Amino acid sequence: MTQTSVKSVKSILSRSQLPGSDWAANPYLGCSHACLYCYARFMQRFSEHSGPWGSFIEVKDWPELDPIKERPRLAGKSILIGSVTDPYLPEEAEFKRTRTLLQQLLALSQPTGLLSNAGLLQNEGLLPDEGFSLTLITKSDLITRDLDLLKQFPQVRVVFSINTVDEALKAQLDAAPSIARRLSALKTCHDAGLKTACFIAPIMPGLTDVAAVIHAVRPYCHEIWLDSLNLHPSCKEPVLRYIASQQPHLKPLYHAIYEAHDLNFWRELDRYLRQIAVACNLPYCTDFAEIKPSEAKPALVNFSAPS
Ligand code: SF4
Repeated sequence: MTQTSVKSVKSILSRSQLPGSDWAANPYLGCSHACLYCYARFMQRFSEHSGPWGSFIEVKDWPELDPIKERPRLAGKSILIGSVTDPYLPEEAEFKRTRTLLQQLLALSQPTGLLSNAGLLQNEGLLPDEGFSLTLITKSDLITRDLDLLKQFPQVRVVFSINTVDEALKAQLDAAPSIARRLSALKTCHDAGLKTACFIAPIMPGLTDVAAVIHAVRPYCHEIWLDSLNLHPSCKEPVLRYIASQQPHLKPLYHAIYEAHDLNFWRELDRYLRQIAVACNLPYCTDFAEIKPSEAKPALVNFSAPS
């Protein structure tokens, strides 16, 4: 049972240091998806809860977004919903904080001004696009509840986090909805006309079958992102304990990568992914900036490639 409390915050938007996003919004503090490898555990220092990560959430309450203040600072910027929590936790069904945030952002995204046809002119390229782009990252099919809102944003992308198609392995790694439910929701969003991506992250060395995930999501994605397991101090101990107890044959590999800092695994993976890209005729790059929109979809974007 997740411990739940309410947290008042001055603003739901905060500056983001993550690549590809200028602003971040997290309607909850904490995350009941309780992923073994969660990089966001450091957020617990801002919480009143002392239980294990995954056992609590704080439901954020924030002032309504002020168009006069927010429109100028969001103009031409990107907003990421779900950088340190999942915006579609099971609790979202009751609290609807992500839905509320979408409604507030949608109000900001509507064209305004003296020109009643400003939106039409923007579409025709006759006015500069002053809107913001929105990206949501989730492991939950609850996002399909909000398709009515998502379809109204001029620039929106939904990203499903899937790092295995093995349901038994998934059950050991997170408490989020099943892979089958995520794949079904990905298809629903794709078929509804939204821009979609799959984030194969973290790639768990020796456990994540990247080819299997690419094969499963490829028909329903415009982009497939991949990133490595990064053992931040707060998740290093649980991951290594899991490997030692449940996957002991992988202990030498994890020691090589995370203790001896050997990059060979990631170099080999980069080579393997390039082969998949060639065989499947998919564009391949290691940076968002290299994606060419006119190319065949989906593009493979491998952030795990050593530089
Ligand atoms: S869904 Fe994301 S934020 Fe939530 S526990 Fe998993 S990795 Fe952490």
